[in-house]
Amino acid sequence: MNIPEILIVEDEPSIAEVVELYLRRAGYQVQTILDGNSAIKKLESHLPDLVILDVMLPGVDGYSILRWIRDRSDLPVIFITARRDEVERIAGLELGADDYVVKPFSPQELVSRVRAVLRRIQREDNKIEKPITFNDMTIDPQMHLVTLNGNEIILTNREFDLLWLLVQHPRQVFTREQLLERVWGNAAYIDPGTVTVHLRRLREKIEKDPSMPTRLITVWGVGYKFEL
Ligand code: CA
Repeated sequence: MNIPEILIVEDEPSIAEVVELYLRRAGYQVQTILDGNSAIKKLESHLPDLVILDVMLPGVDGYSILRWIRDRSDLPVIFITARRDEVERIAGLELGADDYVVKPFSPQELVSRVRAVLRRIQREDNKIEKPITFNDMTIDPQMHLVTLNGNEIILTNREFDLLWLLVQHPRQVFTREQLLERVWGNAAYIDPGTVTVHLRRLREKIEKDPSMPTRLITVWGVGYKFEL
């Protein structure tokens, strides 16, 4: 990953300097802007990886900047509020800030918040799952789409989730109870026969001969697995 770029928008130079220093020491690229109008101008030309935003600013205030950002992107924002005023904090979070600190704050605490927010964002990015291909079959979790020999196969959501779980763990055997738990989310209240029914429908859709499956294999007395 590239070095994250952080933009500080803070009109009190003494605070901005300390924050900048700590963030640089923590390994980030940092730029400071001292008023709202310049901040918008800067953001129009280039989005950093995170913004630290003071609420009370000359020119455009922090809330308006936050609103401006949220109309355009999910860019993480941590705002700095001057007062221990709950209304102000809630307003910021409702406008879509990711976190906040209250003045006076310890710069080290702000650095930890920055780290936490960036980590969270990165985890969410990593969650975007990529398509998996086995020979003539491709399963695309983003599009919820299965293609077989180039033909689209229509699956219900449940069938898709079931197949997706199995193909992510080729050759691993799942019991019907495990599949219920992982795909249906509540094993206790659903008949395990439900899994059998869905498996049969899936076979009808993706197996050449559903009575002699080569992909969705029954392991007698145990459960099911996906075979390559
Ligand atoms: Ca201020």
